[in-house]
Amino acid sequence: MASLFRRVLEVVYVPHCAACDVRVDGGQPLCVPCTGSLVELGPACPRCAEPLAAPPDVECVRCRVLGEAWPLEAAAAPWRYGGALGRALRRMKFARRPDLARELAPLVAPFLGAVARAADVDVIVPVPLHWRRLALRGFNPAQAIVEACAGGDGAGPGATVDARSLKRVRATAAQTGLSGSDRVRNVKRAFEVPVRRVRNVAGKRVMIVDDVITTGATMASAARALIGAGAAAVIAFAVARAGDGD
Ligand SMILES: [Zn+2]
Ligand SMILES: [Zn+2]
Repeated sequence: MASLFRRVLEVVYVPHCAACDVRVDGGQPLCVPCTGSLVELGPACPRCAEPLAAPPDVECVRCRVLGEAWPLEAAAAPWRYGGALGRALRRMKFARRPDLARELAPLVAPFLGAVARAADVDVIVPVPLHWRRLALRGFNPAQAIVEACAGGDGAGPGATVDARSLKRVRATAAQTGLSGSDRVRNVKRAFEVPVRRVRNVAGKRVMIVDDVITTGATMASAARALIGAGAAAVIAFAVARAGDGD
């Protein structure tokens, strides 16, 4: 029965490009032109992923000034936001297409897994939405990405996915269109680790995952909540890094 069902699915399921919907060969997340439009992040600050015209491993001015006050041990994103990748991420979010997280997984999973292994991560936590936005969207894109990419042993031995140990306790305005300092203010104390979940993150190396990172204000706010609950370190991973103006 299971194999019949699988055969039916194979007939019904025709793979399409996650960005532009043209038919693609099975297992290809994006068509050839859309894949060609991906732009690697390139040299960036290792602690906030801000693109820099500097050799790798040099921190940006902000991270150097903030030092230990910047709560992320590291931040990574494989690509710049925009083009076909931006289109695919926007479709997932606004057209309510959680299936696109699965489509994009073959593209994203190798990077997510490599970062998780390199940073020796114990727990992977998708950046949560406030319950009201979750009700509006029907799903959390960050969680869909994590579940599509880090399922099984996708993030290396020992790393577990935990979507319940971080809560967004304050509904915040969209970060888009806000200046750097307004972004920080907007997401201040927006996250909390529920008391009964503290033991899931205390002493752990936690990787937080979002679809897009811009200034890192949201990731930093989430990281402060986790560190407040005793996390040993917080590493941020996003699919794409947006410019400040995006
Ligand atoms: Zn395409
Ligand atoms: Zn930085």
